Amino acid sequence: MCKDEKTIKELIIGRRVGFYKVRGEIGYGTFSRVKLAFHALTKDKVALKILDRTRLDAQTQQLLSREISSMECLQHPNVVRLYEVVETPSRLFLVLEYAGGGDLHNRICSEGKLCDNTSKITFAQILSAVKYMHNLNIIHRDLKAENVLFTSDGCVKVADFGFSTRVASRGSALDTFCGSPPYAAPELFRDDSYLGPPVDVWAMGVLLFFMVTGTMPFRADTMGKLRRCIMEASYTIPPWVPGPCQRLIRGILKPLAAERYAVDQMLGCDWLLPVEFPWALAPPEPPGPLQSLLE
Ligand code: ATP
Repeated sequence: MCKDEKTIKELIIGRRVGFYKVRGEIGYGTFSRVKLAFHALTKDKVALKILDRTRLDAQTQQLLSREISSMECLQHPNVVRLYEVVETPSRLFLVLEYAGGGDLHNRICSEGKLCDNTSKITFAQILSAVKYMHNLNIIHRDLKAENVLFTSDGCVKVADFGFSTRVASRGSALDTFCGSPPYAAPELFRDDSYLGPPVDVWAMGVLLFFMVTGTMPFRADTMGKLRRCIMEASYTIPPWVPGPCQRLIRGILKPLAAERYAVDQMLGCDWLLPVEFPWALAPPEPPGPLQSLLE
């Protein structure tokens, strides 16, 4: 038996990966399978994202290494933690904090729009996560309802850093179109280069609209029409959306990035003022049993 085969056998004995016992299927991505697993000693639940390295082209490998390096430096109560990476020659296992309460997209599709209070609490947590990552010069570039997960007790966890990038400074220009078109900022269609933070801010405006109305602000049956709607920022906010929330949406969904609200303006807006931001101010969470074991 060659050394590589031995390593794989040691890592995946039966339904076990390293110290993690694999228990069930969570879902599939384009290049990944995600399984539920337990740490054998601490019994902590984790999500095991499994990637078949032999199926990854050079570009996907590059995105994956960015995802890992972004997640390795993020420790925030509203961001999915990457606990560790287990490697074999053919596979890569990302051991992630488990968010067992489903995602925002499925929740809205099955239960309809969120009530005003739930929208505020959810948006405030996303905002807290985005403020934190932008302070570290990490731009997510794929904020969308499918990537907003919940724990079983309803805490928001922003996930999927596959398109994220770390910029030298907030003023650094980027030039790759990333993310999902309905959430893409106008400058991604219009300009050769763009600034990172306003692109995440725009996607948060689309998310906010989706949360409070249960529909997307920009919808079209062809990509060309969708692009036009976004570039013209042509959307209609239903009149029953509370005024302060309407003002926030309008402050975010501005076609010119320079005129768009910045994260700190969103934090101070009327609609969110009744919400406290313990997450933005809280010291890092004390390590849980799994974290203590890994550190
Ligand atoms: P793609 O990356 O191809 O766009 P995706 O984002 O759905 O697709 P994954 O990130 O691999 O792909 O996720 C696959 C499934 O696993 C999704 O349903 C996602 O909600 C779920 N999932 C991912 N991470 C976690 C996690 N930490 N906890 C619970 N479920 C998760």
